[in-house]
Amino acid sequence: MKKETKIIHNILPDSLTGAISFPIYQTSTYVQKYPGVHKGFDYTRTNNPTRNVLERLMTDLEEGYASLAFSSGLASVDAVLKLLSNKDEVIAVDDIYGGTFRVLDLYKNFGVNTTFIDTTNEKNTISHISKTTKLIWLETPTNPTLKISDIEYISKKSKEINEDIIVVVDNTFASPIIQNPIKLGADIVIHSATKYLSGHSDVLSGVLTVKNKDLYDKLKYIQNSTGGVLSPIDSWLTIRGIQTLHLRVKTQSESASKIAYFLHEKKEQFGIDKIYYPGFSHHKNHLIASKQQKYFGGIISFSMKEDTEEHAKKIVSSTKLFKLAESLGGTKSLICHPSTMTHKSTPESRRIASGIQNSLIRLSVGIEHVDDLIKDLHQSLLFQ
Ligand SMILES: *Cc1c(COP(=O)(O)O)cnc(C)c1O
Repeated sequence: MKKETKIIHNILPDSLTGAISFPIYQTSTYVQKYPGVHKGFDYTRTNNPTRNVLERLMTDLEEGYASLAFSSGLASVDAVLKLLSNKDEVIAVDDIYGGTFRVLDLYKNFGVNTTFIDTTNEKNTISHISKTTKLIWLETPTNPTLKISDIEYISKKSKEINEDIIVVVDNTFASPIIQNPIKLGADIVIHSATKYLSGHSDVLSGVLTVKNKDLYDKLKYIQNSTGGVLSPIDSWLTIRGIQTLHLRVKTQSESASKIAYFLHEKKEQFGIDKIYYPGFSHHKNHLIASKQQKYFGGIISFSMKEDTEEHAKKIVSSTKLFKLAESLGGTKSLICHPSTMTHKSTPESRRIASGIQNSLIRLSVGIEHVDDLIKDLHQSLLFQ
């Protein structure tokens, strides 16, 4: 069976009633016949049938060994970092998601230090590995400038140096439809399922998938010990979202490509400075994006020649279909101004250095008709 079919049919009807929609097992505990004699479930922090369905779906989607679902993307990030101990070092992509940066910063209190480097330079990344390096944290594409790192090269070369190094990929921006990091050699893939996986901007959710049993056992122990599990209803919403993931991501990627070319064509007229879109042959990492990704994704960023926050703020508040909001990956198109929204807490020098200019605008393309989205951007950009 093809993956698309497998995903839909791995959600089995309820064996008790035949309900075709898998039930939300809204329960904290399970009745036992005799102490320790039960139907495989004893407490929802440890296992819940609805959550288990989601975890199996994610394992199929990411082609890994097993998965765990968390109450948010950052709860899954936190669980992964609990694999580390005092004096372990992390190498992380410099353009990392702000929330992940904050968690890594907290781990300094426990003696875990992070070196941030430009992982799009894969040779330089490998040269930073030292005896204490335990984990490499990649995010590709990054937010919001869509830098792409070579997962296969970094996984392979880091393991040649030390086979115990854990390579983690935050696959939120790509989704499992676009790339499967475990197949490229990574050990753990994490998702903010809040974004493309759930896909309807109605739930906070996180999932990780691992390559082998050893990592699964360790992370299951961490999750059960600390309790950041996804609730039954949010598991159900994420399952519901995933069933249309392949349709949404394909449409969003195709529309994003049309929008990127439209912006490129009108660059002069609109006063656009740079456009960040990995589908362009002049994008810095276009070659690796073409090799590693099935589509170029649904996110586009661009900056203006008039590089001021005021100018960008006018644009982002004058679109009608593109709603001004943080987050991404939903059915509705979103527009955001990273320097005053998602990256407000990033120090200015660090922000500018990573390409987030004052006027940078990020689009998350939804599933509306692309002609309407183009019209919306046209009216907004023309009259500022
Ligand atoms: C949103 C996001 C997260 C955090 O996920 P939450 O579900 O908001 O906790 C992590 N990584 C990336 C790339 C994200 O976009």
